[in-house]
Amino acid sequence: MTNSFNRDPINDYRANPGNPISFKDFKTDDAQGVDREHIEARTEENTLAIADLQHKLYADHNRSLLIVLQAMDAAGKDSTIRKVFARVNPQGVQVKSFKKPTPDELAHDFLWRVHMHTPRKGHIALFNRSHYEDVLVARVDNLVPESRWSKRYQVINGFEQALVNGGTEIIKIYLHLSKDRQREKLQDRLTDPEKNWKFEAGDIQTRAKWNDYMHAYEDAITNCNTEHAPWYIVPTDRKWYRVWAISEIVRTTLERMDPQFPEPKLDPISALKLLEQLQ
Ligand code: ATP
Ligand code: MG
Repeated sequence: MTNSFNRDPINDYRANPGNPISFKDFKTDDAQGVDREHIEARTEENTLAIADLQHKLYADHNRSLLIVLQAMDAAGKDSTIRKVFARVNPQGVQVKSFKKPTPDELAHDFLWRVHMHTPRKGHIALFNRSHYEDVLVARVDNLVPESRWSKRYQVINGFEQALVNGGTEIIKIYLHLSKDRQREKLQDRLTDPEKNWKFEAGDIQTRAKWNDYMHAYEDAITNCNTEHAPWYIVPTDRKWYRVWAISEIVRTTLERMDPQFPEPKLDPISALKLLEQLQ
């Protein structure tokens, strides 16, 4: 799809499968020459279209959509979810935030806690962090040996393929934030009393390992960027641009899925007659 902004997120930000991913090739800010007011109006339209498509997906009760969001701290995963899904019926959308695993979760294989949150038919599931943490923080912080995390890419591809085979569409989005912009956003969390609660001491330790994280992300995206479960690398430094780009990717994916209201279970005319007879 082309639009008046001369940007096409579903193609422009799709990581190319088969090629090693380097973040150098992807912008963290791509808003130059783009009119903010215009794009915000389009975002609003997209949120309405997403709600409409979700309604049909729910009624159709046949397929489902899984959206994986991954990013460094303070990139804006939460606000993206809030904005892009502002209009949907909460009954058909589940958000799951994956935090540090509990002892019980750690006592199982890494997908154990993930599988139960995949979307049921007719639903959209949003993963705020995901099974990818097990090849990101697990690798950077040496939570498991390399011999273990390095085998997980293949396991993830198989897992995602199984979900797709079962009727789930998968899109995975990396919110590509620059290191400078992260500093500003972490500073905001410390200076704005309403944001203080979001700040974690661990954010500083994680930031200190920025380069290790970037390598881990590049490898994760390279190894798990399949045709059946693509990765998108979305410029994230500007909130309004990021929210618009992600709303385009979600809308276009749902349009491609093309959910339809199902055929009525019985003939509506004769059912109406029956109803009248009962009066
Ligand atoms: P924000 O972007 O607003 O900071 P967040 O997603 O970082 O939100 P937090 O509660 O701050 O939410 O952090 C969740 C933490 O859980 C992250 O540090 C993440 O690395 C960690 N985590 C998630 N999954 C795993 C996992 N499988 N193994 C170890 N740590 C994990
Ligand atoms: Mg955090």
